[in-house]
Amino acid sequence: MGQGGEEYPVLTLGQAPATVSVRVAAATIIVTMTGVSLIVAMHAYARAVVLPGFLPAFASLTALADMLTAYLLWGQARAGEEPAVVVLVVTYLGCAVLVAANALLFPGAFFVAGGRMGEAAAWLWVFWHLFFVGGVTVYGLYPAAWSNPAACVRAARYGAGITLSSVAAAVALARSGSLPALIGEARFHVPTFLLVVLPAAMVVAMVALAYGRRARTVLDTWLFVAMAGMWCDTALMHLGNGRFSIGWYAAHAISLAAALAVLLGCLAEVNRLYGRLVWHEARMSHANADLRAMNSELSTMAEYDALTQLLNRRAVLQHLTEHFESWRQGGAAVGVLMIDLDHFKTINDEWGHLAGDEVLAQLAARLRTAMRESDIIGRYGGEEFLVVLPGTSAQGVRVTAIKLLQAVRAAPFACLDGSITVTVSIGATCVGAKDPDPDSALARADRALYVAKRNGRDREVWADPAHDADP
Ligand code: GH3
Ligand code: MG
Ligand code: MG
Repeated sequence: MGQGGEEYPVLTLGQAPATVSVRVAAATIIVTMTGVSLIVAMHAYARAVVLPGFLPAFASLTALADMLTAYLLWGQARAGEEPAVVVLVVTYLGCAVLVAANALLFPGAFFVAGGRMGEAAAWLWVFWHLFFVGGVTVYGLYPAAWSNPAACVRAARYGAGITLSSVAAAVALARSGSLPALIGEARFHVPTFLLVVLPAAMVVAMVALAYGRRARTVLDTWLFVAMAGMWCDTALMHLGNGRFSIGWYAAHAISLAAALAVLLGCLAEVNRLYGRLVWHEARMSHANADLRAMNSELSTMAEYDALTQLLNRRAVLQHLTEHFESWRQGGAAVGVLMIDLDHFKTINDEWGHLAGDEVLAQLAARLRTAMRESDIIGRYGGEEFLVVLPGTSAQGVRVTAIKLLQAVRAAPFACLDGSITVTVSIGATCVGAKDPDPDSALARADRALYVAKRNGRDREVWADPAHDADP
């Protein structure tokens, strides 16, 4: 996967591959943090001015960044159904709680300097670093094993319990005096070093290995930044060896910078993925609109006759069946007209097929306009039209037939080569009690049409539905 705008599906932070720009940003931050740490390391032990408000202010920002990261990752865990990410959610949430507790117990914030609360604050710092390292380790070791979404909720519940008990244990142990005192110890404190620095180094190495081996996802990349920040933080803290040293100040600044980098990095990626999602949505809705247009064109093509723009045979027969069924259930009468163009073969022969087509189209339009809006007309065959007249009984059917004959007679049909005089013959009937199905009425209309042809064309013939005999 290369840089910037190429296509890949919208994925969660734990699935999306890190683009070159994400990797460059992460590497730049790591190099900067390491560089600053190396420079500060030379003066880490030097005392600086005492700013009692510094730690609470910085720590509360770090806690806020951790909480927001936890919230962001929670959404990612849910979206991707990745319970493993819940481990990270708990880790960040736990860190936020531990950092906040650390800031609250910091001497000078709410308590006087030097008391047991000061010791508790120092131990919370240790627990915080262990907790973070532990969480990332568990996440790194079990990326695929947490495959059951229900484990999400369980992991979150356990994590909350572990977090709260960690805080309680740290405070209780420090207050009881059973933990070694951290403050005022000489240069190098071996237990703290073993507790914090060695695991941190191990995890950095592990994450580096996993990063190289596994798919390089956005989440892996930013976790790597977080681990590097933690490593710089712990190293400087130990080199500074005490509060208000240059190293101590720099360690907190780097810790905050790393937390913000992770948060902003993840946010930028989520934002980018959101932009991609919106773009996909827009494309989808365009495609859907095209599809709907094509569908309606298809259904028009399936229902209408291309030459005359009237309903086709299938569609007009469908209408006849529907009206027949509703009449049988006590609905209104239904009239049926079968119309056939007289001597159309001769018209074709004399004027050509194109002129014949033109006549058919004009005749269709003329018939359509001569009848009521609610009447239904379709092209039944080559030059035959079927008319269904809903709510029309014998008298009305005959009147309509005569009206249509007159409409055709009214004026010749104009085509390119001149005007063509056209007449039609009509077989007319109504659906009646003796009709078992619409075909029966249709056959009667057809027979009436035949009689109209036989009797000299340009006329209508009525077939009474009550009589079995042909008209
Ligand atoms: P009648 O008065 O007995 O109905 O005579 P007719 O010539 O109209 O009837 P016939 O069934 O002998 O011929 C129908 C002609 O209609 C034959 C066919 O070529 C023509 N026809 C059918 N469909 C079309 C069409 O779409 N375009 C054109 N130009 N001619 C068509
Ligand atoms: Mg004909
Ligand atoms: Mg015919």
